[in-house]
Amino acid sequence: MTHHPGIVITGASGRMGQMLTRLVSDSDKVRLAGAVERAGHAWIGQDLGEAMGSAPLGVKVTDDPLEAFASAQAVLDFTAPEATLEFAELAAQARAVHVIGTTGMTEDQIARLAPAARHAVIIRAGNMSLGVNLLMQLTKKVARALDAEFDIEVVESHHRMKVDAPSGTALMLGEAAAEGRGVALGEVADRGRDGITGARTGGDIGFSAIRGGDVVGEHDVMFLGPGERIILRHVATDRAIFARGALKAALWGQDKAPGQYDMVDVLGL
Ligand code: NAP
Repeated sequence: MTHHPGIVITGASGRMGQMLTRLVSDSDKVRLAGAVERAGHAWIGQDLGEAMGSAPLGVKVTDDPLEAFASAQAVLDFTAPEATLEFAELAAQARAVHVIGTTGMTEDQIARLAPAARHAVIIRAGNMSLGVNLLMQLTKKVARALDAEFDIEVVESHHRMKVDAPSGTALMLGEAAAEGRGVALGEVADRGRDGITGARTGGDIGFSAIRGGDVVGEHDVMFLGPGERIILRHVATDRAIFARGALKAALWGQDKAPGQYDMVDVLGL
C-alpha cells in the first residue's frame, strides 16, 4: 500500500477510458485502484491490461462501482450522462474526487449533481485541455471588446463516433462568449440551422458541427464583423491532453473543500 491517491476509471474500455488507463498506470504520482464497466460488458472480471491487449495491470474490471470507489481517492469518469449521475452519488459516498469529462448533460442533469457536491469534490469540464481553457478566457475577452456588430459563430469538428452535438467544448466556448457580452447563452444560442431560417438575428451565438473520420477535436470561435473577422482556433491532435488534464484535476482536488469546480479552477486561469 502506498500513499499515492488511488484512481478508479469508469468506462474503462472507451476511447478516453483506455487513454486514462495508460496514463494512470504509467504515473508515479497515483496508482490504478479500479476499473468500472457496465454490467454485461465483455471485459467484466478480466484484468484491465489484458483486456486492452497488453501486460496485466493487476486490476480486474468490475460492474460494481460502489465497491471500486470505496478504496479510491478519485474517479475519472468519461462515460455517458446517466452513468455519470449514478457515479456522482457513489463517489460522494466514498468521499472520492469525481472528475467528470462526460459531455451532453442537460441543465437538469447538471443540477442533479448538486447533492453529491455537498459531500465531495466534483470537477467537471467539457474539455480538460489547457489550450481550450485558455481559448475560453480569450473568447470572453474578445467578446467583451467587440459589440454585437460582430456575429459570433462556434464551429466544431469531431470524429464520426461522437454522439452529442454541439460538443461540450463548443458550448463552453459559447458560454464564454455570452459571458463576455453580458448575455445568457440560453437566450441567444442558435443551434441546428436548416431550411428557410430567415436572416441571422443580431446578437445570436451560432453553432455548427462537422462529424467525420478520426478528428480528435477542432474548435473555431469566429467573430464576423463588417469588413473584417477574427477567428480563434484550437486543434487537438492527441486525446492524451484530455487525460492529462483529468489526472491533474484529480490531484488538485485532493485537498479541496466539497463543491463543484472546473478546469479554469484547476489551471488557475
Ligand atoms: P466511448 O469510447 O464511447 O467511451 C464511453 C465509455 O463509457 C464506454 O466504455 C461505455 O461502455 C462506457 N459507459 C457508458 N455507459 C456506462 C455505464 N452506465 N456504466 C459504465 N460504463 C458506461 O466515448 P469517449 O470518446 O471515450 O468519450 C466519453 C465521453 O467523454 C463523451 O461524453 C465525450 O464527449 C467525453 N469527452 C470529454 C473530453 C473532455 O476533455 N472533457 C474529452 C474527450 C471526450 P459501453 O461501450 O458498454 O457503452
